[in-house]
Amino acid sequence: MRSALARIRPPADRMCREMNVGVCDWRFTGSANRSMNAGAGANGLIFVNRGVVEYASNEDEVCLVFAHEIGHQAANHIATSQRNQMTGALIGAILLGAAGAAASYRSPYASQVTRSAMDTGANLGGAVGRISFSKEQEREADYLAAVILYRSNVDLDKARGMLVTLARSSGRRDTGMLDTHPAGPDRLASWDRAVAEIRASQGALPARA
Ligand SMILES: [Zn+2]
Repeated sequence: MRSALARIRPPADRMCREMNVGVCDWRFTGSANRSMNAGAGANGLIFVNRGVVEYASNEDEVCLVFAHEIGHQAANHIATSQRNQMTGALIGAILLGAAGAAASYRSPYASQVTRSAMDTGANLGGAVGRISFSKEQEREADYLAAVILYRSNVDLDKARGMLVTLARSSGRRDTGMLDTHPAGPDRLASWDRAVAEIRASQGALPARA
Protein backbone atom coordinates (compact mmCIF):
# COMPACT_ATOMS: atom_id res chain seq x y z
CA MET A 1 0.00 0.00 0.00
CA ARG A 2 2.71 2.38 1.02
CA SER A 3 4.64 2.04 -2.19
CA ALA A 4 1.50 2.30 -4.39
CA LEU A 5 0.56 5.49 -2.60
CA ALA A 6 4.05 6.94 -2.87
CA ARG A 7 3.98 6.49 -6.66
CA ILE A 8 0.79 8.44 -7.24
CA ARG A 9 0.72 10.95 -4.44
CA PRO A 10 2.76 13.86 -5.89
CA PRO A 11 0.89 13.90 -9.23
CA ALA A 12 -2.43 13.41 -7.41
CA ASP A 13 -1.66 16.33 -5.17
CA ARG A 14 -0.80 18.55 -8.14
CA MET A 15 -3.95 17.51 -9.98
CA CYS A 16 -6.11 18.27 -6.95
CA ARG A 17 -4.66 21.74 -6.62
CA GLU A 18 -5.01 22.30 -10.35
CA MET A 19 -8.73 21.43 -10.09
CA ASN A 20 -9.10 23.57 -6.99
CA VAL A 21 -12.63 22.41 -6.15
CA GLY A 22 -12.20 19.65 -3.57
CA VAL A 23 -10.32 18.39 -0.56
CA CYS A 24 -6.58 18.02 -1.17
CA ASP A 25 -5.40 17.26 2.36
CA TRP A 26 -5.93 13.52 2.65
CA ARG A 27 -5.74 11.23 5.66
CA PHE A 28 -4.99 7.69 4.55
CA THR A 29 -6.00 4.70 6.63
CA GLY A 30 -5.04 1.16 5.77
CA SER A 31 -7.47 -1.19 7.45
CA ALA A 32 -6.71 -4.83 8.26
CA ASN A 33 -10.12 -5.80 6.91
CA ARG A 34 -9.75 -8.52 4.27
CA SER A 35 -12.81 -7.65 2.26
CA MET A 36 -12.13 -5.90 -1.02
CA ASN A 37 -13.27 -2.41 -0.13
CA ALA A 38 -12.10 1.17 -0.03
CA GLY A 39 -13.81 4.47 0.52
CA ALA A 40 -13.67 8.20 1.08
CA GLY A 41 -15.25 10.22 3.87
CA ALA A 42 -15.32 13.62 5.48
CA ASN A 43 -12.17 15.58 6.31
CA GLY A 44 -10.11 13.98 3.56
CA LEU A 45 -10.44 10.47 4.96
CA ILE A 46 -9.47 7.72 2.53
CA PHE A 47 -9.42 4.11 3.64
CA VAL A 48 -8.21 1.09 1.74
CA ASN A 49 -8.69 -2.40 3.13
CA ARG A 50 -5.94 -4.96 3.17
CA GLY A 51 -8.31 -7.11 1.10
CA VAL A 52 -7.72 -4.80 -1.87
CA VAL A 53 -4.03 -5.62 -1.83
CA GLU A 54 -4.76 -9.32 -1.46
CA TYR A 55 -7.08 -9.35 -4.46
CA ALA A 56 -4.79 -7.18 -6.60
CA SER A 57 -2.52 -8.87 -9.13
CA ASN A 58 0.00 -6.05 -9.15
CA GLU A 59 0.79 -2.70 -7.59
CA ASP A 60 -0.70 -0.77 -10.50
CA GLU A 61 -4.13 -2.11 -9.51
CA VAL A 62 -3.67 -0.89 -5.95
CA CYS A 63 -2.69 2.51 -7.37
CA LEU A 64 -6.03 2.59 -9.19
CA VAL A 65 -7.98 2.07 -5.96
CA PHE A 66 -6.13 4.85 -4.15
CA ALA A 67 -6.43 7.16 -7.16
CA HIS A 68 -10.18 6.52 -7.41
CA GLU A 69 -10.79 7.50 -3.78
CA ILE A 70 -8.53 10.53 -4.21
CA GLY A 71 -10.70 11.40 -7.21
CA HIS A 72 -13.79 11.52 -4.96
CA GLN A 73 -11.96 13.90 -2.62
CA ALA A 74 -10.47 16.06 -5.37
CA ALA A 75 -13.87 16.53 -6.99
CA ASN A 76 -15.49 17.35 -3.65
CA HIS A 77 -17.97 14.48 -3.83
CA ILE A 78 -18.17 14.11 -0.04
CA ALA A 79 -19.46 17.65 0.39
CA THR A 80 -21.94 17.06 -2.41
CA SER A 81 -23.21 13.97 -0.63
CA GLN A 82 -23.41 15.97 2.58
CA ARG A 83 -25.71 18.36 0.82
CA ASN A 84 -27.77 15.34 -0.10
CA GLN A 85 -27.90 14.46 3.61
CA MET A 86 -26.29 11.13 2.98
CA THR A 87 -22.90 11.60 4.48
CA GLY A 88 -23.81 11.10 8.11
CA ALA A 89 -24.36 7.46 7.37
CA LEU A 90 -21.32 7.17 5.14
CA ILE A 91 -19.00 8.53 7.80
CA GLY A 92 -20.59 6.40 10.51
CA ALA A 93 -20.15 3.30 8.40
CA ILE A 94 -16.55 4.07 7.56
CA LEU A 95 -15.39 4.97 11.04
CA LEU A 96 -17.09 2.14 12.88
CA GLY A 97 -16.23 -0.24 10.07
CA ALA A 98 -12.57 0.62 10.46
CA ALA A 99 -12.76 0.26 14.23
CA GLY A 100 -14.46 -3.11 13.85
CA ALA A 101 -11.77 -4.24 11.45
CA ALA A 102 -9.03 -3.36 13.89
CA ALA A 103 -10.80 -5.04 16.80
CA SER A 104 -11.61 -8.22 14.93
CA TYR A 105 -8.32 -8.68 13.11
CA ARG A 106 -7.19 -12.35 13.22
CA SER A 107 -10.65 -13.46 14.20
CA PRO A 108 -12.07 -16.08 11.84
CA TYR A 109 -15.29 -14.09 11.84
CA ALA A 110 -13.57 -10.83 11.01
CA SER A 111 -15.69 -10.03 8.00
CA GLN A 112 -18.98 -10.61 9.83
CA VAL A 113 -17.89 -8.60 12.83
CA THR A 114 -16.84 -5.77 10.58
CA ARG A 115 -20.00 -5.95 8.54
CA SER A 116 -22.18 -5.73 11.63
CA ALA A 117 -20.05 -2.86 12.95
CA MET A 118 -20.54 -1.18 9.58
CA ASP A 119 -24.29 -1.66 9.81
CA THR A 120 -24.35 -0.26 13.33
CA GLY A 121 -22.20 2.63 12.19
CA ALA A 122 -24.56 3.37 9.35
CA ASN A 123 -27.50 3.32 11.73
CA LEU A 124 -25.76 5.63 14.16
CA GLY A 125 -25.00 7.96 11.31
CA GLY A 126 -28.67 8.27 10.52
CA ALA A 127 -28.67 6.02 7.50
CA VAL A 128 -31.50 5.78 5.10
CA GLY A 129 -30.36 2.67 3.31
CA ARG A 130 -26.96 2.17 1.83
CA ILE A 131 -24.84 5.15 1.04
CA SER A 132 -23.11 5.54 -2.25
CA PHE A 133 -21.91 8.17 -4.63
CA SER A 134 -23.95 8.80 -7.73
CA LYS A 135 -23.09 7.08 -11.01
CA GLU A 136 -21.82 10.38 -12.36
CA GLN A 137 -19.55 10.81 -9.35
CA GLU A 138 -18.22 7.28 -9.76
CA ARG A 139 -17.51 7.95 -13.41
CA GLU A 140 -15.75 11.19 -12.55
CA ALA A 141 -13.68 9.50 -9.83
CA ASP A 142 -12.59 6.86 -12.34
CA TYR A 143 -11.72 9.54 -14.90
CA LEU A 144 -9.64 11.47 -12.38
CA ALA A 145 -8.01 8.22 -11.28
CA ALA A 146 -6.96 7.59 -14.87
CA VAL A 147 -5.47 11.10 -15.09
CA ILE A 148 -3.54 10.52 -11.86
CA LEU A 149 -2.25 7.13 -13.05
CA TYR A 150 -1.25 8.52 -16.44
CA ARG A 151 0.65 11.36 -14.82
CA SER A 152 2.29 8.94 -12.38
CA ASN A 153 3.49 6.65 -15.17
CA VAL A 154 1.43 3.82 -13.74
CA ASP A 155 0.54 1.22 -16.37
CA LEU A 156 -3.11 1.98 -17.18
CA ASP A 157 -3.65 -1.38 -18.84
CA LYS A 158 -2.33 -3.28 -15.84
CA ALA A 159 -4.34 -1.11 -13.43
CA ARG A 160 -7.49 -1.95 -15.43
CA GLY A 161 -7.17 -5.50 -14.13
CA MET A 162 -8.73 -4.32 -10.87
CA LEU A 163 -11.93 -3.36 -12.68
CA VAL A 164 -11.96 -6.72 -14.42
CA THR A 165 -11.58 -8.48 -11.06
CA LEU A 166 -14.43 -6.41 -9.63
CA ALA A 167 -16.65 -7.23 -12.57
CA ARG A 168 -15.89 -10.94 -12.19
CA SER A 169 -16.59 -10.99 -8.47
CA SER A 170 -19.89 -9.18 -8.76
CA GLY A 171 -21.74 -12.35 -7.73
CA ARG A 172 -19.78 -12.76 -4.52
CA ARG A 173 -21.07 -11.59 -1.19
CA ASP A 174 -17.76 -10.83 0.48
CA THR A 175 -16.64 -8.13 -1.92
CA GLY A 176 -17.62 -5.05 0.00
CA MET A 177 -16.44 -2.69 -2.70
CA LEU A 178 -19.33 -3.84 -4.85
CA ASP A 179 -21.71 -2.47 -2.26
CA THR A 180 -20.36 0.99 -2.75
CA HIS A 181 -18.87 0.93 -6.22
CA PRO A 182 -20.35 0.00 -9.56
CA ALA A 183 -18.78 -2.80 -11.53
CA GLY A 184 -19.32 -4.55 -14.77
CA PRO A 185 -19.10 -3.82 -18.47
CA ASP A 186 -20.35 -0.22 -18.20
CA ARG A 187 -17.58 0.73 -15.87
CA LEU A 188 -14.95 -0.96 -18.03
CA ALA A 189 -16.26 0.75 -21.16
CA SER A 190 -16.12 4.21 -19.55
CA TRP A 191 -12.67 3.44 -18.20
CA ASP A 192 -11.46 2.53 -21.70
CA ARG A 193 -12.96 5.72 -23.17
CA ALA A 194 -11.38 7.82 -20.43
CA VAL A 195 -7.97 6.22 -20.95
CA ALA A 196 -8.11 6.79 -24.73
CA GLU A 197 -9.01 10.45 -24.17
CA ILE A 198 -6.35 10.99 -21.53
CA ARG A 199 -3.66 9.40 -23.66
CA ALA A 200 -4.68 11.57 -26.62
CA SER A 201 -4.56 14.72 -24.48
CA GLN A 202 -1.39 13.58 -22.69
CA GLY A 203 -2.97 13.71 -19.28
CA ALA A 204 -4.97 16.91 -19.51
CA LEU A 205 -7.96 17.46 -17.23
CA PRO A 206 -11.26 17.83 -19.00
CA ALA A 207 -13.28 20.99 -18.44
CA ARG A 208 -15.77 20.40 -15.62
CA ALA A 209 -19.42 21.05 -16.22
ZN1 LIG B 1 -16.12 5.46 -5.84
